[in-house]
Amino acid sequence: MSETEKIASEITDFGKRLYERNYICATEGNLSARLSDGRIMITPSGANKGYLKQSDIVICDIDGNVLEGEREPSSEIKLHLAAYKHRPDIIAVCHAHPVYATAFAVAGRALSKSVLPEIVSTLGAVPLVEYAPPGSARIAENLRSSLDRYDAFLLRSHGVVTLGKSCEEAFNRMESVERFANILFLAERAGGAGLLSEKETIHLLELAKREDILSEIEFGG
Ligand code: 13P
Ligand code: ZN
Repeated sequence: MSETEKIASEITDFGKRLYERNYICATEGNLSARLSDGRIMITPSGANKGYLKQSDIVICDIDGNVLEGEREPSSEIKLHLAAYKHRPDIIAVCHAHPVYATAFAVAGRALSKSVLPEIVSTLGAVPLVEYAPPGSARIAENLRSSLDRYDAFLLRSHGVVTLGKSCEEAFNRMESVERFANILFLAERAGGAGLLSEKETIHLLELAKREDILSEIEFGG
């Protein structure tokens, strides 16, 4: 199997998983991956990403010029390209609208509370990226300042973006963000989300080598 066949199969597979997990519906969301020669494979715009065929996947260069494919690339291609240009270490970008995390994005709340150790020691936090219209170049501009420090982002009034060293890692991060938002929402309804102390938070960030983001995390006394 060639690299393009393998990646196209992963993109269609994870598109299906996003749809089956209810992280996208109708034509929402998009997924892309970087090939070893630097080209980008991305989902087509306006399709249901739960039912993609491998032949639907579009190949672009790093500036978004279409090299192969019958369809238009995702309308969020600028966001994907900004992530690849700023993060040479990442291979995949995933964008979806999972309901709980998107509810936090609509409420204008970053997922930055130190409540779940496994989130603090992996993602650190999920910052809120200032609003810009879907598909606009401004989304990419607003995202840029957080790209160095985070692997998952809430797009204000819109949805979630995750990055990974593989499609699977980007997808797993989407699952973690949604699980975190779901638990935080329920904990707040159940009587309040208990914050981990500053000491515990520092310990977790040290394990993750993410001490640089301590000032952006809300911890307890
Ligand atoms: P595309 O179908 O163009 O990728 O758009 C979906 C989306 O979620 C836009 O933000
Ligand atoms: Zn979207």
